[in-house]
Amino acid sequence: RRAAFAAMKGEPPVTRDGTYVALMVNAGLRDDVAALDLTGAEGIGLFRTEFQFLVSATMPQRERQQRLYRDVLDAAGDRPVTFRTVDIGGDKALPYMRVDSEGQEENPAMGWRALRVALEREGLMKAQARALIEAAAGRTLNVMFPLVSEPWEFDEARALFEAQRRWLSARNRKLPAAIRYGAMLEVPALAETLDLLLPRLDFLSVGTNDLTQFLFAADRAHPKLAERYDWLSPAILRFLKRVVDQARDAGVPTTVCGEMGGRTLEAMTLIGLGVERLSVTPVAVGPVKAMIRSLELAPLRKLVGELLVSPPRDLRGRLTDWAVDQGV
Ligand code: PEP
Ligand code: MG
Repeated sequence: RRAAFAAMKGEPPVTRDGTYVALMVNAGLRDDVAALDLTGAEGIGLFRTEFQFLVSATMPQRERQQRLYRDVLDAAGDRPVTFRTVDIGGDKALPYMRVDSEGQEENPAMGWRALRVALEREGLMKAQARALIEAAAGRTLNVMFPLVSEPWEFDEARALFEAQRRWLSARNRKLPAAIRYGAMLEVPALAETLDLLLPRLDFLSVGTNDLTQFLFAADRAHPKLAERYDWLSPAILRFLKRVVDQARDAGVPTTVCGEMGGRTLEAMTLIGLGVERLSVTPVAVGPVKAMIRSLELAPLRKLVGELLVSPPRDLRGRLTDWAVDQGV
């Protein structure tokens, strides 16, 4: 099978009835960029910039960040890279930086992490903004903010980047050809105000790992809960469908970048409910592309639509049966 996936590397991820699905990879280290050539993926849909912080014994200074971002962009060439600003805190604690202001956190995943840290530690965010903007000189910079809960958080983060862009411009530094700003939808509350935010977004990215844990109030790292809440559940799928429909109506491209999109049946279901862009772990590119290329989208759309209106108890079973039946 691995040989079959490798042979498919140059083939486009297009369904049998002609719908193109953008297939990208998640990455976090310099060497991960090699996955682009290995898999034939279209680009990096999620570059987790906190990896550099996590593997470092000391806080990576701006120059070191900038070097990494430039290396990644150089290696990616014409293929787009979407950088996510640091998502530290929570399950990604840094030994050299106390992120919790009040001592030990009881619920770090819901605590002082990601954009919440970055908006308060402005020095950290400014350094990263400058590193990204300078690294992307002459190219398009795609940047997104993790764990946005309310629209103002996105606005503040974007304003901080724009201030750095002006600062660099005033000093005649070479700037990116364009900066595109996106928000990650990982906190269910954001879906309730998404209509207000969409007009200001260049793109949206759905992080299903955090989103699922918050939708179900179930710790994503808890072994006893891992099997209990299925990604193929009516709650998640209905939620995602509303978000995807809303973003499409607003003309905002939406990518699903959580692990859910890297599982073949889940990816199939996401495509069935209207997702057109997936960013997955590199080993999943082959299997997901094979699935897409064997897919007849129109009947899948109809099936998923019906299953979401009146979901059967065994939704996963029904989708599996359909896939087997169709030879997907
Ligand atoms: C997610 O939450 O789905 C996501 C892509 O981000 P991370 O897994 O890094 O939290
Ligand atoms: Mg996340």
